[in-house]
Amino acid sequence: MFGALRLGRGGVRGVARAALAARPCGAAAGDAPAAAGRALHATPTAAAKVLCVLYPDPTGGYPPPPVRDGIPTITHYPDGSTVPSPAAVDFTPGALLGSVSGELGLRRFLEAGGHSLVVTSDKGPDSAFDAHLPDADFVISQPFFPAYLTAERLAAAPRLRAAITAGIGSDHVDLAAAIDRGVNVCEVSYCNSVSVAEHATMMALSLVRNYLPSHAVAAGGGWNIADCVSRAYDIEGMAVGTVAAGRIGLGILRRLHPFGCALHYTDRHRLPADVEAQYGLTYWASWTDMAAAMDVVTLNCPLHPETEHMVNADTIGAFKRGAYLINTARGKLCDADVIAAALADGRLAGYAGDVWYPQPPPADHPWRTAPWSGMTPHTSGTTLSAQARYAAGVREILECYLASPPKPIRPEYQIVTDGKLAGAGAHAYSV
Ligand code: NDP
Repeated sequence: MFGALRLGRGGVRGVARAALAARPCGAAAGDAPAAAGRALHATPTAAAKVLCVLYPDPTGGYPPPPVRDGIPTITHYPDGSTVPSPAAVDFTPGALLGSVSGELGLRRFLEAGGHSLVVTSDKGPDSAFDAHLPDADFVISQPFFPAYLTAERLAAAPRLRAAITAGIGSDHVDLAAAIDRGVNVCEVSYCNSVSVAEHATMMALSLVRNYLPSHAVAAGGGWNIADCVSRAYDIEGMAVGTVAAGRIGLGILRRLHPFGCALHYTDRHRLPADVEAQYGLTYWASWTDMAAAMDVVTLNCPLHPETEHMVNADTIGAFKRGAYLINTARGKLCDADVIAAALADGRLAGYAGDVWYPQPPPADHPWRTAPWSGMTPHTSGTTLSAQARYAAGVREILECYLASPPKPIRPEYQIVTDGKLAGAGAHAYSV
């Protein structure tokens, strides 16, 4: 994305405007940019109302002081496909875009096309989100702070054309209801898969090595090394298994390969033999059989009817005593009380992740205080680096929808299209 920028100077309120090499909407992954000269804005269509739910601004005000001057340039994902390539972006890569005032950098583009943008973080019952739904044409929501698009809310949104996920994972949308109502669902596949793979790898190491409790000892003025190391191990030689070896799951295995772990996976589809051979992967048909042999298990499948509460009172017994469980996929993959009990009784030596249900979770959610937990708010996929990609991806999707005539979006972004699971959704989801 940002490697192909033609930098312009048309900034508004000091915001850098970057025009990217033109590329048709829906072009196959890895396609070269199309010929230069494509209009930066699509021919105006009927005015659309875009309703966007983002997380609140920083407590210290917006914008926060920048910590670094920019982010690395990334043009392609590990599989060779291109990062989002809208006609232009109206933000500075590395800026905070995911909170309300960041507006995903969409306002200038939308208003220049005669469309309107409403951005809110008020998403509960009888919220601003509900008030704006009846005449919304597009809803944008982030998994980090999801606006749950239930069947009731979809029924209250008769004009809705598409629910766009600014990130990956569209389980906050009732996909069956969206299919029934002909509402399209799409997400920015791959935009933050590497971000999450990095985070889950960090969490596996931090749990096994007892990093967070040891840091707490130092921060608290202590120095009892024995307290720190009584739960600390090396990950070298451990068996690590991922439930799902998609972009994130395989990304974690690749990152752990140099650590000398025995690497395992289960998935609905088996990986190519050359990939298995390259990383020495062992395939399991059953995730519970795999868990019984693992020191570390990481969950990386989407939340859908096949996977909801897969870790429950019946399946927790499958884990080795003292296993570590990392879940950066979705909170509802696990029964929250079962995980808390397993940490207390030692079935699990540690649990870490950033996904909960609901989000935000209540103050008394058991994972906030469970022992040996490394939980954070839902942050792994919304680094400033990831935000630049998913904001550009949402812009690319909107450019497709708002073009006259509309253009198809990339298949890898499609979850539900024209009343059925499509593209990435047909591959990885069930309803
Ligand atoms: P991918 O689509 O690349 O991978 C998902 C994988 O899950 C696919 O290989 C799919 O199999 C597999 N799968 C689906 N159902 C099952 C099942 N029942 N058992 C085993 N495997 C299954 O997506 P990503 O890797 O990019 O993302 C995965 C998930 O991670 C997202 O759906 C989202 O919930 C979560 N996520 C979390 C983020 C965060 O910030 N914490 C950010 C981004 C994603 P196949 O395709 O072979 O059928």
